[in-house]
Amino acid sequence: MILVPLQCPFCGSEDVGKHGTVNGKQRYICHTLECSHRTFYTEYTYNACKSGVKSDIYKQSVNGSGVRAISRCLGISTDTVISELKKRKRHKSYQQGILSDAFHR
Ligand SMILES: [Zn+2]
Repeated sequence: MILVPLQCPFCGSEDVGKHGTVNGKQRYICHTLECSHRTFYTEYTYNACKSGVKSDIYKQSVNGSGVRAISRCLGISTDTVISELKKRKRHKSYQQGILSDAFHR
């Protein structure tokens, strides 16, 4: 399992937890004293835009994870995973770039 490092947009802390959903959006809560349980939202699309998530999608698919497992694991929608994997198939050179990038990390 890969945990997505989720950060509080106010203080930058990763000491955040899930705090239910509102209108289908996942709400998070920050546990630091600074924010004193301030809540915030993180869009699925926002996660997918973060560097690292896209290569994580690919790495997990290589490991044999299904689309659903990957989306659950990374906290992004299955649509994002599918479209990302489709892009990969189309751009072989990009795929190799991701692989070497992962190798050097
Ligand atoms: Zn905070």
